[in-house]
Amino acid sequence: DPANGIARLVHVNQGLAAMVGRSAADLSGRPLLSLLGSDAHPATLASVDARLLAGEQVEVSLVLRHRSGTTVAAHTTHVQIPSVRTDSQFRLILFRDLSRRSSEQLLADQASVVESLARGRDLGALCHQIASHVETMLDSKGRCWIGVTDGRDRLEAVVTAGHDLDLVGGVLRLIMGAGDPTSARCVLVENLPTDLGVPLAEVGIYALWAFPALDGRRDQRGALVVAHQTEDIPTDDEIRFLDHLSQVIAAGIERAALEATMAHRALHDPLTGLPNRALIVDRLQQALARLDREPSSLSVLLVDIDRFKSLNDSWGQEVGDRVLLEVAGRLLASVRLGDTVGRISSDQFLMICIANAGFDASVVARRVIRSMRDPVTLRGGDELRVSVSVGVVAVDDANQSPTAVIGSAESALASAVENGRGRYALFDAGLRKRSVARHELEQALHSAINGGQLVLHYQPVCEVRTGRMIGAEALVRWDRPGHGLLGPADFIDVAEDSGLIVPLGAWVIEEVASNLSTWPKATDGRWPVVTVNLSARQLADESLVPMVTRTLRRHGLPPARMGFEVTESMKIDDFEAAIDTLAALSGLGCRIAIDDFGIGHATLDYLRRFSMADVIKIDRSFVAGLGRSREDTAIVSASMALATSLKLQVVAEGVENAGQLAELHALGCHYAQGYALSAPVPLDVTLGLWQAGVLVDPPGPPPPLSRPDRN
Ligand code: C2E
Ligand code: CA
Ligand code: CA
Repeated sequence: DPANGIARLVHVNQGLAAMVGRSAADLSGRPLLSLLGSDAHPATLASVDARLLAGEQVEVSLVLRHRSGTTVAAHTTHVQIPSVRTDSQFRLILFRDLSRRSSEQLLADQASVVESLARGRDLGALCHQIASHVETMLDSKGRCWIGVTDGRDRLEAVVTAGHDLDLVGGVLRLIMGAGDPTSARCVLVENLPTDLGVPLAEVGIYALWAFPALDGRRDQRGALVVAHQTEDIPTDDEIRFLDHLSQVIAAGIERAALEATMAHRALHDPLTGLPNRALIVDRLQQALARLDREPSSLSVLLVDIDRFKSLNDSWGQEVGDRVLLEVAGRLLASVRLGDTVGRISSDQFLMICIANAGFDASVVARRVIRSMRDPVTLRGGDELRVSVSVGVVAVDDANQSPTAVIGSAESALASAVENGRGRYALFDAGLRKRSVARHELEQALHSAINGGQLVLHYQPVCEVRTGRMIGAEALVRWDRPGHGLLGPADFIDVAEDSGLIVPLGAWVIEEVASNLSTWPKATDGRWPVVTVNLSARQLADESLVPMVTRTLRRHGLPPARMGFEVTESMKIDDFEAAIDTLAALSGLGCRIAIDDFGIGHATLDYLRRFSMADVIKIDRSFVAGLGRSREDTAIVSASMALATSLKLQVVAEGVENAGQLAELHALGCHYAQGYALSAPVPLDVTLGLWQAGVLVDPPGPPPPLSRPDRN
């Protein structure tokens, strides 16, 4: 209408007239807007106009007003008609009744929900999309409800379209609970029990179309229900469409269930069902955040099953699993509801306890240890005793990372294990620092052994009577970059604890053999004897003797040139193995010396066990008191007597001055080693001393032994 810019209907066909319940004549000349429902937005039409003027063909869904007051959904296509008249614009509008959609259109809708299913939209969104397709198809003559079960028996209504949940729930339950679930049904509301039928009729629902959602095993997992406002029954097209949609829902339900199990699996240990490390770390993170906000206490306990590996190896994995399950159950029983117990590695569990400020987590640790007192009963009736070690951390700083907290628990656990297992230890920060430093040292030492950073110094051993050098003791040094030359005190303990002493010891033996192969005879024609220190671990190592044999042979050395020192104070776990090793070395022809003689608690016992020994080395603490302390002098002289009767040679260690040397001479001691003769020195210096032969003047007459003792 060029006069006021309003679009009016010039011609209306029968089809459009029928859609809105009027005659074609009645509609002619009316504004286009009069066709539309009250909720038609003026902006929608304005944008249609604008796009038409821009030369586009426009497609838009509009809701038309039926004469009866109901609404009709229509799909409209607008085309501008080229015109010779300039005062008017004409347009052709095609109205397609969406409630009479073709099967083709229905299939297109279905394709779009299948696509959302494939793209993994969540089940709720998928159901909403399906419900809205169904309602468009129903053209406001019905509502779509979709219900799903959670796989057990709980029903969840996913889409209820504004209806009372109880009512929808009642309908879904009725439909899912009754009759043959495998096929679609249409129920007239008047045939329903009154407690459902009456309230349904009250909200204008007269028929229910029910479509079961069946999973792959043909079990009903949900239902799609059309609540219809008339007593209509579905057409064949509608049945096909709704049936397909209900299968899409079933697939969505299955996918959601699978995702839920996968999510559970990704975060839980399959054996015990406990949270796994990933979930535990997450829980710990949350607990730390909570600690920051509220005054509470957070304790973390790391529980390790003692000697689980050997249990698993000797009893088999089935028994191992049984033990893990049992332990998991006992741990769960040791904490309060709300605490977390998870499995963080094969035989370690982590417990997170949140309590009031001031809570003492060692209570839980004791409870855990006590819970292991009863043996685990195996399938065949055997009983197995299991114990655990526990590292406890009371978290005081909420700003730590979960990994740092677990690290603290690990170092506390390590000290519980060191102290003999089957007990708990509390974390202390100093301990952690030391263990980190130790770990770093261990790493560095590892590369030092392979990286040529080890050095040998030799400390000459001389005959007391003549002052002549007869050989040396090999003493290892570590030329650590940035730290200078480190003595054994700085790294031998770490090497022993970590097992690195085995490769380190092998390096020493190889190096000594290699040095000895170029070490000349002395001017008096004697060959040097060099001794090597052995640690307990090496004595337990079966490959030591073959390795020594090979090394000596490779360098063409008679075994008598190499000696081995074992200290009395070393902790030997397996005496039989140690004795076998020493006997074998002795059998090769190597000399065996008992080092640090006299300071151990079982000196005589060692002498008896190490009957293959050739030499005792009297500890320098006794030598230090020679001539000053009557006891020390007495011990040295008693050791001498003992050695003589056992036909052992004696080396006195730590001889620092001529006085001590003279005392030793008087006591009849054969050999001496110490700063008075030479400190440990590099190979070239050692060889110089060897060439020189005599390192000190032979001691003069000994000072009188009757001197008063004043210490
Ligand atoms: P040790 O076997 O008792 O070695 C003698 C230690 O006493 C050496 O210390 C030496 O420097 C020191 N010493 C020598 N003369 C005197 C003296 O007159 N006065 C005093 N106060 N001390 C003296 P070092 O080299 O620091 O070695 C310490 C320990 O490290 C050795 O004690 C030995 O048990 C161990 N060790 C050294 N090298 C090796 C090795 O290659 N393997 C193993 N397993 N242990 C080694
Ligand atoms: Ca030694
Ligand atoms: Ca010694």
